[in-house]
Amino acid sequence: MAGVVIVGGGQGGFQAAASLRQEGYEGPVRLVCEEPGLPYQRPPLSKAYLKDGDAARLALRPEAFYATSGIELVHDRARALRREAREVALARGAPLAYDHLILAPGARNARPPLPGIDAPGVLGLRTLADAQALRTALPAAVEAGARAVVIGGGFIGLEFAAVARAAGCAVTVVEAAERLMARAVSPETSARFRARHESLGVELAFGVPAAAILTDAAGRARGVALADGTEILGGLVLLAVGVRPNVELAQEAGLEIADGIAADAGLLTSDPAISALGDACSFPDPRTGARVRLESVQAASDHARTIARRLAGRPEPYAALPWFWSDQADWKLQIAGLPPRGDGPAEVRDLPRGGFAVHRWEGAELVCVETVNAPAEHMAARRLLSAGGVSRAALEAHDGSLARLAKAG
Ligand SMILES: Cc1cc2nc3c(=O)[nH]c(=O)nc-3n(C[C@H](O)[C@H](O)[C@H](O)COP(=O)(O)OP(=O)(O)OC[C@H]3O[C@@H](n4cnc5c(N)ncnc54)[C@H](O)[C@@H]3O)c2cc1C
Repeated sequence: MAGVVIVGGGQGGFQAAASLRQEGYEGPVRLVCEEPGLPYQRPPLSKAYLKDGDAARLALRPEAFYATSGIELVHDRARALRREAREVALARGAPLAYDHLILAPGARNARPPLPGIDAPGVLGLRTLADAQALRTALPAAVEAGARAVVIGGGFIGLEFAAVARAAGCAVTVVEAAERLMARAVSPETSARFRARHESLGVELAFGVPAAAILTDAAGRARGVALADGTEILGGLVLLAVGVRPNVELAQEAGLEIADGIAADAGLLTSDPAISALGDACSFPDPRTGARVRLESVQAASDHARTIARRLAGRPEPYAALPWFWSDQADWKLQIAGLPPRGDGPAEVRDLPRGGFAVHRWEGAELVCVETVNAPAEHMAARRLLSAGGVSRAALEAHDGSLARLAKAG
């Protein structure tokens, strides 16, 4: 028996291996990891780790877990899939045969073709190595009195901006759209985060894309030029303009690609011996049927659990509700559900004990709830949206509180 090979030892790859064992799968499980060390979690890289530098706390499980669970970590890079032979060619080691292959290669940072983008001083934030480089660059920028220029006002850019401000670094965030986190949150939530970041002293530039990295005589980054000619000087430039799914292995092997490795409602690809998960794959959203690709711990982990159950002989379609969080200074943003298709109404509710919730509707259906510093409302939203929805009348009968509605049963 060749067993299961998992390509990518990140959040989803790790979870797939662990869940296979939890579901009672007894065959060999091999996890191919191109990054050094043990599988680790990425969210703290732009949050706690940037502050405390405690890499040991990032590991998803201690080393002993893999030995006791019979999960073999193969530190190598998968370089090709030979589907007919059912094997994965590695960069260094001997090919790995599989009965089933799980593709969990994640995504990589997008790198727009800006002049100067390869200059020293231009950093990204995806891996532990990236975060380590930032932990060196940030205090150096503070020491030199230099500004950090963040290209991209999405979650990672804003989390970094908040940490950099707390460290005493001047920060400008350059966002080509007219508002923050525009792809993921309502205009109401964007506006409140804008005000919060401004109150932290983060400078924000909207509506004009970055056009080039400015460099000094030695070729080091010294700032960012915008398309309208504005120059923002700063010796630390963080590129945070989103990611691209790692589809190349799958694509070269002839698997179907659709903004990610195309998977069906059970996370199976166009080859019945290959599943895909996490940031790298697109799949039909259980609510709408529309093909989506999600970049979240929740999606990667729940995909992994669904695949493991199928391989253990208990298949069921993927039905998990998407949820997400982001920590920016003392604001914890939590999102349950996906944004409505079209511009549905968004209603803001300031909560009596602080924090706020934004209810986003698609017609008569509550589809997404954004909360800040309101964990009870978030948990209630997850419960109610998973259980099939919330009517306006029921919500109004509980003063707009999802927590009270959930409690009332
Ligand atoms: C800084 C940062 C902060 C984040 N914060 C949050 C957050 O607050 N909340 C949230 O929900 N999500 C957050 N995310 C997103 C979340 O971490 C990802 O959605 C999640 O890790 C995706 O899991 P994955 O298994 O698909 O990919 P990854 O966890 O990225 O794992 C993929 C792994 O596959 C490896 N790989 C790729 N190709 C190969 C190959 N050919 N051979 C071998 N190995 C390969 C990669 O090196 C990588 O280690 C954050 C991400 C980052 C970068």
